[in-house]
Parts: sequence; C-alpha cells; structure tokens
Amino acid sequence: MTSYLREENMTCRLCLETRPLCGSHIISECFYEKIYDDKHRFLPISTEVERLKFQQKGFREDLLCRACESRLSEWESTLKRDFVDIGKEQSNFLTINRVHEEIIKVQNINYDYFKRGILSILWRLSITSHPFYSKYQLGPYEDKLRMILKEDGHIPELHYPIMISKCKLDQQFFPDIIMGFPPGKIAKSRTVYRFIIWGILVTVLVTDHAASNDIESIILRENGELFIPDIQYTMFAHPQSVIKRIFDDDVRDMFAKMTS
Ligand SMILES: [Zn+2]
Repeated sequence: MTSYLREENMTCRLCLETRPLCGSHIISECFYEKIYDDKHRFLPISTEVERLKFQQKGFREDLLCRACESRLSEWESTLKRDFVDIGKEQSNFLTINRVHEEIIKVQNINYDYFKRGILSILWRLSITSHPFYSKYQLGPYEDKLRMILKEDGHIPELHYPIMISKCKLDQQFFPDIIMGFPPGKIAKSRTVYRFIIWGILVTVLVTDHAASNDIESIILRENGELFIPDIQYTMFAHPQSVIKRIFDDDVRDMFAKMTS
C-alpha cells in the first residue's frame, strides 16, 4: 500500500499512541485498481450523494501509525485476493463451487483475516471525517470495534456477523463498483451497515452480542465456509429491499437446506 508519513506526531486512531501518522486510505487503494481511469481518478457511487464527481487516488486521511497501517494492510490484501477470486469464481487458495443457479459456496477462507479486513473497513468508514462516508456512524460500536481490531483475540462468527453477495447486472459481474449506503435496520432494531467494494456487497450486522444462530447458514463461518448469493443491482432501487431479501425466510431456508 502506498502511503506517506507525516512529520508531526498525532494520536493514532487504532492504538491511541502519539506517533507520526500515515495518509491512510479509508478503502484501500487495492480495491480501486479496476476503476481508475487513465488520469488515475475514480468515480464513487453513493445512494446518499446526489452529485457524482471524480476523486483523485481514493480518500486519504491521517488516521493510523505505520505499525497499525501495516496490520490493517495485511488483512486487506487477503480480503482483496479473496474478492478477486470470488469475482472470477476461480482460485488457488479457495474452493469455490456454484451450488445453485444463484449461489456459490466458498471454502477455505482465512476467517480471521477476512473478517478483520471487513470490520477494519467498516471502522474506518465510521471514523473518517470525509463527507462521502458521513452516514457510517457506529456510535458506541466505534470504540468496541477499535478494541477488537487492536487486540489479536478471536471474533466469534455470531459477533458482527458478515454476509456477502455478488452484485450483477443481468448475468454480468463488475469488479469496478464501489458504493455506499445509509444504515438499515432489521428485527429487534439491530443495525446493519452495507458497502460494495470490488462489485461485492458486504453486510455487517453490528452487534457484540451473539446474533441468533438461525442466520448461521448465510454468514461467514469460523470453519472458513461462506455461501454467496448473486443479487441484482436493480434491487438497490429500493434501499430496504436488499436487507429484506438477505434476511428473508425463503432465502434462509434455502441456505439451511444446502448446509445440512
Ligand atoms: Zn497505531
């Protein structure tokens, strides 16, 4: 990851030590690879921002010290590698099988790196002051996530459970899409945060209590398994519809049958 180092010491947002900080990307530059044009600009899409404008080199902010930056970078490169392979449905590291017309089954995911990679992106979306991401406000969960990312402890699969979908337009997958969404709610007023990077929709249920285990079949599992449904970009015409579909009983039952 390319980044610059500031001369003056500031407080690192992850370890809270006073150190020179890097110009960290909110979403790592590796995820923009496909969407830079020849002037090295990219066009972010958001359901919240009406006016689209080109940005240079992704969004950067002085957030992290060098040590924390390289820690996050390690998780991100694993995540990026997996997203590329999920996009292609071919891999030397993962086992990927299309088990249904609209669903792939992925095995051998490095659970800790994949999960930490995603949670670290969500955390950065919350701590950044960039207006493009202003809807990502984790409130009390911001510091809880900071602690989780700072410590090396295991994150149980039902804590901050993660769901992944592959976004398509008709039958085509586009790795060159980055998209932000306002938060959504599901049953019991739980909040889900979503973003699309590399054309892949990530949904995180933000809870540090164990989510009910009836969602086990649709989340990233500690054993490295994950079922990924295809969804259509047309579903985003109604912002609540993706959340509804992901937690829809029919979809859950279908997954449950496949995993049993
Ligand atoms: Zn640090």
